[in-house]
Amino acid sequence: KERGRNRAQVFEPAMSQAQQDHARIAQDLRHALPRDELSVHYQPVIHLPTGQVTGVEALLRWQRGGRSPIPPEVFVPVAEETGLIRPIGAWVLREACRHGQHWHDTLPGAEALSVAVNVSGWQLKDHRFPDTVQQVLRETGFSPASLVLEITESTLVTDADTTSPHIRALRDLGVRISIDDFGTGYSSLAYLRDLPADIVKIDQSFVLRGGSETNKSLIQAILHIGHTLHLDVIAEGIETPHQAQRLHTLGCPHGQGFYYSPPLTPTALEAYLTIQAILKPSKTHK
Ligand code: C2E
Ligand code: MG
Ligand code: MG
Ligand code: MG
Repeated sequence: KERGRNRAQVFEPAMSQAQQDHARIAQDLRHALPRDELSVHYQPVIHLPTGQVTGVEALLRWQRGGRSPIPPEVFVPVAEETGLIRPIGAWVLREACRHGQHWHDTLPGAEALSVAVNVSGWQLKDHRFPDTVQQVLRETGFSPASLVLEITESTLVTDADTTSPHIRALRDLGVRISIDDFGTGYSSLAYLRDLPADIVKIDQSFVLRGGSETNKSLIQAILHIGHTLHLDVIAEGIETPHQAQRLHTLGCPHGQGFYYSPPLTPTALEAYLTIQAILKPSKTHK
């Protein structure tokens, strides 16, 4: 018993440090929106056969008052636990649609640019979420056909009974649904068949470690599934020209990754799109 207590004493401070950090993040996150510390960056999505930018993915960033940035993988789960994901998620959606509408209006060749927004399971479970999306589209004037909502495969599987009707309501608005991190979430093929989705995103783990024959076959299998179910396919995490070439050769229609561009501030994205439009004046070169 004595030893057990001693062990507990050694272990406790480390635990409480982690808990303190967590509590601090939760506390600071509460002020992030009113203090203007959140921003949205955009990563281009490329049509691999032509190299043209067909869309962007909105990715949330938090600059916590004068400290080093915290990645979304750390603070999004805290936002989910605290319920802050709903106001923050609605804010991201509004920003993304506002920016998207601005680019449609002002950038030559960007009239059809799609904007993908990541949606947490906690947002999707809320029966008011489709109304929120409709309201944001109305406010910003952004076309539902240009909006994509990304939902991870694991979220779709976990809360299917609650979320499926909401996904259908969103698709009735004309919004497209994308299955994020596909290949990591254990969904059955029957489930996938019945799911109202438009796009699958091949998880970056298949692309980053894509050199092996096994990975090549898995990517081909996902492409076949996508083709069979009439889903568009986007490969995530393309970091090298070699990976880009390989995916293109396998017939993957779309891709995104650091090789093309990291996530950019809205201003930097505008410059990127403008340069792309000058370099590739809407001509295809298959
Ligand atoms: P995700 O939706 O799968 O986003 C892709 C992540 O991969 C992003 O990380 C992106 O910056 C990163 N990435 C892009 N290209 C490459 C590449 O070539 N190589 C590598 N290694 N990584 C690449 P990020 O921005 O840190 O976001 C991480 C995750 O946080 C996202 O994964 C998404 O699940 C979540 N997230 C980000 N923004 C939001 C948001 O607004 N709402 C919600 N609910 N989740 C978000
Ligand atoms: Mg995503
Ligand atoms: Mg992903
Ligand atoms: Mg991810």
